[in-house]
Amino acid sequence: SLRKKPFIHFRIMSKPNKHESKRGSKRESKRCVEAQCLPILQHKATLTKLVKDNVFLVVTGETGSGKTTQLPQYLYEAGLWKGGIIGITQPRRVAAITVAQRVSQEMHFTLGKEVGYQVRFDDCTSQATVVKYMTDGCLLREILADPGLSQYSVVILDEAHERSLNTDILLGLLKKTLLQADKGSKDGSVRLRVVVMSATLETDKLSTFLGHCPVFTIPGRTFPVTSRFGNAIGPKEVDIALEVHVSEVAGDILVFLTGQSEIEKACDMLYEKAESIDYRYDVQDQTVEGLLILPLYGSMPTDQQRQIFQAPPSGIRKCVVATNIAATSLTINGIKYIVDSGFVKQLNHNSRVGMDILEVVPISKSEAQQRAGRAGRTSAGKCFRIYSNEFWEKCMLDYTVPEIQRASLTSVVLTLKCLGVHDVIRFPYLDHPEERLLLEALKQLYQFDAIDRRGQVTQLGRLIMEFPLHPGLTRALLKAAAYGCEDILLPLAAMLSVENIFIRPGHPEKQKEADKKQRNMAAQSGGMNDFATLLSVFQCDSPSAWCKENWIHWRALKSAFSIETQLREILLRLQQKKDFPVETFAGNKSELFRRCLCTGYFTNVARRSIGKIFSTMDGHGTAVHVHPSSSLFDQEAELDWVIFHDMMVTSRVYLRTVCPIRYDWVKDLLPKLHEVDAYELSNIAREEVNEEELAKLESKEAKRQKGILKLEKR
Ligand code: ADP
Ligand code: MG
Repeated sequence: SLRKKPFIHFRIMSKPNKHESKRGSKRESKRCVEAQCLPILQHKATLTKLVKDNVFLVVTGETGSGKTTQLPQYLYEAGLWKGGIIGITQPRRVAAITVAQRVSQEMHFTLGKEVGYQVRFDDCTSQATVVKYMTDGCLLREILADPGLSQYSVVILDEAHERSLNTDILLGLLKKTLLQADKGSKDGSVRLRVVVMSATLETDKLSTFLGHCPVFTIPGRTFPVTSRFGNAIGPKEVDIALEVHVSEVAGDILVFLTGQSEIEKACDMLYEKAESIDYRYDVQDQTVEGLLILPLYGSMPTDQQRQIFQAPPSGIRKCVVATNIAATSLTINGIKYIVDSGFVKQLNHNSRVGMDILEVVPISKSEAQQRAGRAGRTSAGKCFRIYSNEFWEKCMLDYTVPEIQRASLTSVVLTLKCLGVHDVIRFPYLDHPEERLLLEALKQLYQFDAIDRRGQVTQLGRLIMEFPLHPGLTRALLKAAAYGCEDILLPLAAMLSVENIFIRPGHPEKQKEADKKQRNMAAQSGGMNDFATLLSVFQCDSPSAWCKENWIHWRALKSAFSIETQLREILLRLQQKKDFPVETFAGNKSELFRRCLCTGYFTNVARRSIGKIFSTMDGHGTAVHVHPSSSLFDQEAELDWVIFHDMMVTSRVYLRTVCPIRYDWVKDLLPKLHEVDAYELSNIAREEVNEEELAKLESKEAKRQKGILKLEKR
């Protein structure tokens, strides 16, 4: 019989229509009931008491058991907020925002009042805020101003298993201050309590680290998930998702990819391919009548993110295409199928170029298991791995390396120094960072004049600390401010603080068009200086229409406007102090701009050696190329010395956001790069290299490289 089936394909609905939102509100009440059957609820009384009675507590439980959204509410109900704010840290800003929204809804408060959030450059709290979700970076900055965290009654370090650099440092700091304070207070009263929440079972280690504190495990039931390996890696995620859609019974799909552009591309492809499905014949489960495709990544507008959590209309299968954020930070109900690409985007210190680089690397086995587990929350599920069993064995580590052991520690070391932790080598780390990373950080801080030869924070170091920016960029900004020309550096710093100003469309024709527009823009701003291009984008008139026409992310630009205002406020506050440096400068404006940049970017200088090849001047002497997206690309012959904002490493090393400079401007700064031996700064003796440790590290690195090479081949 020819049953007529509707052919529904949703890409994304940016605004729910009336009909939708009505249905949404019905679902709303259902969701509140849902909160009442989360595994954590039964343990409300026990958990509340444990938090009250202990300085440190470790809480663990399956992802989705209700730790992040429920525990703070229990503590609020128990009245702990009367003694100070209940603060919850998240490693990811999106998680902090989304969860705060959710919790304010559940508690029937307006967001920003009793329940609020604070992330870098976005503060949605008020005097009334007593439940505060925030990034771990924000809490670290608060500790700088108030080491005892006197405003808080409870601090919850959430997602400790993610082992983000800031959470790790917070753990060490809180251990240091509270375990000492605890010995001091005789009356047994506890002022500040710390709860560490983690999804995995590394809890013994955490408990031991925190003076053998109690551990509470929320028992949870999960359903079996069967995993199937693929036969190679390749861009097959879309095909597999479609195969699942047509051949598996109803249930939502979650696809793990690496980043925004991959996700947008995959969604476009999915949409296109789904168009040709004939729901009368092609689909095994005849209750499935359409596909709702939703992207999920960090810098997405929050109104779009909200849809991710809503149940799809009946008969429609939801397919969420996400970054790692959906692995533990956010739980989406109804997922039955996982498509796992096996890769993640990660910030790693690259020893080849001596810089932190955003790299696409294979996930660890434990991460893969966590991803698969997302399919088994409410019923048995299936996980489709793109990669082969061989890839699993040969390219994937057992556990993810904590960020503290793979990222640059410059900002963190400066924070510690400002907090009076002078000996950063012997700080209580949960996992000790490699000594070379600590030494490198000290060296860089010395190069920026943020610390002196004895390793003490300088006046400039304290100024640098005031800005939530990279120390080099802050130094450039402070130089500009000293010359009285902060008006050019403030917008630039803001523009460099937002991701993805330029839209890179997936479609090749559109890509060409966007490239052309962007080249025009560069030419209009004087050409041959990517920093100046960013500045001129910031200064455009009638922004919103202009953005659309020129392939600029309007939302990103808008947030740059807001960031600029905030940076300006910080600067104004500092300039009112007596000892703020003032200098004079004679020269033209373009030179002034670039010379200020040199003050911060002299660590990122390259000189052309032959043809299109440059060589970095930081002692690594890496051979580098100008990235094709730069306005200096193909103009290399005219260049000699350049500075750059960052690098991209594939089989080649590319410089991104580049501008030409004169040797004269950096000649006095460059020697600083080779002036000291970092050991001098650390006040420690050069130690024997531990061969065993080194061998372990090298084999880890080899595995990662193998994975990256495979990815590049695809
Ligand atoms: P955990 O922290 O233990 O991983 P959560 O507290 O994040 O668990 O999640 C508990 C439940 O709340 C999950 O079922 C999740 O789907 C739901 N939830 C969390 N955030 C939202 C949101 N923004 N919208 C709808 N549901 C949400
Ligand atoms: Mg959580």
